[in-house]
Parts: sequence; structure tokens; C-alpha cells
Amino acid sequence: MEIITASYLTSSPSIQQCPSADRPEYAFIGRSNVGKSSLINMIANNAKLAKTSAVPGKTQLINHFNFSGRTGDTVPIQQWYVVDLPGYGFAKRSLAMRSQWERMIQNYLLQRKNLAQVFLLIDSRHTPQKSDLEFADNLYSNNIPYTIIFTKSDKENQREVSKNVSSFTDELKSTQQWLPAMIITSSIKKTGRKKILQRIAELNEAFYK
Ligand code: GDP
Repeated sequence: MEIITASYLTSSPSIQQCPSADRPEYAFIGRSNVGKSSLINMIANNAKLAKTSAVPGKTQLINHFNFSGRTGDTVPIQQWYVVDLPGYGFAKRSLAMRSQWERMIQNYLLQRKNLAQVFLLIDSRHTPQKSDLEFADNLYSNNIPYTIIFTKSDKENQREVSKNVSSFTDELKSTQQWLPAMIITSSIKKTGRKKILQRIAELNEAFYK
């Protein structure tokens, strides 16, 4: 997939304000600081598209980006939305902010009609974290299709990354009958970009069928 457009569209405080659900949508979520902005920028080939913020967890908005691209010269251009969702697991958030986040995210996940896939980002440097497993289980039990993206794979040696991926998979197996697809990425080395775009291209095609 070759990206043609990748631009910021709008930020919405709730699903009601989101742009019209007229094309497939891919939501990116994970713990604060997991590398979400860097990953979206890597996919877009634009280092400045999503802000990599120094103060995580401040904004609680649903951020839409317009993307378009194509898989070859003779095929039609595909259009889709990329959504940057506010991260979870930010310790300094107040209880009230946390429950507001939960409501906003859950409404979005359960009601957004054009949501084609959630990309759940997990930091490949860590052993399985409770908040990540809980989020994955939430997606699974609500039948929301998702793919796991392991981030920052350049930071540890390959053996450590594989070990963490296996442990995470083992944990998922204890609660989920069907395992999601998993992609190992590094925004610095641009690892995994092709695989993510290939998945988006396939899901775009399925959306219009
Ligand atoms: P977000 O809060 O999830 O949007 O995370 P950011 O994209 O802002 O990244 C958080 C920190 O991790 C920043 O200092 C990034 O430079 C760093 N980071 C993000 N992705 C990678 C990666 O693939 N490799 C390495 N080494 N660092 C990364």
C-alpha cells in the first residue's frame, strides 16, 4: 500500500461528534507512552502528523485522521480513517477523568458503525501488564475485531521481545478462544509498517464488498 493522503481531520469529545461513518475506520489505542503517536506517524510517513506528547494523558478526545492510498497503479484509491484514541493506564489521571475516559471509549467501541479494526498497542519491552490484558479481554468479549501491535521492538534484543510476545499470547489463551493477529513493530526502524498497511488494505476491501 502506498499512502497518498495522511492528514489531521478533527477531534471529538464523544462518538456523537465524530465525522460521518462513511468509510472504514481503524482505531489505535494502548497505554500512555506505548508509542502510539510514533506508530501513526510511521504509518503515515510523516513525523509530525500525530503529536508525540511529553505530557501524556491530558487530552481525552477521539482524534480522526484522513488517510488514502492504493495497492497498485491500476486499482482504485482507498479512503479510510485512522483514529488516535486517548491512552489508558495513566496513573496521574483522577478517578473522575478515568471514568469519563472509560465511558467515552466504551461508547465509541460499541457504537461506531464503521470501526473495521482496533489496533491494540503493547510495549514489547514488558511482561504482560494487567491493563493491557483487561483491554484485550474487553475487545474480545464484545466481539470487536482487533489486532495486537507490539511496539518499540528495537529497544530490546529479539529473544526478549519473543519471550514477551509468547507470555502475552499465553495469557490471552487463558481467556480467549480465538487469538488476534499480532504484528511486531518499531517506529524507529520502520518495522511492521508493510504488514499493518497490508491488513488495512485487506480490511478496506472487505468493507466495500
Ligand atoms: P504515545 O504516548 O503512545 O503516543 O507515545 P509516543 O509515540 O509519544 O512515544 C513515547 C516515547 O517512546 C517517545 O519518547 C518516543 O520517541 C518513544 N518511542 C516510540 N516508538 C518507539 C520505537 O519504536 N522505538 C523506540 N526506541 N522508541 C520509541
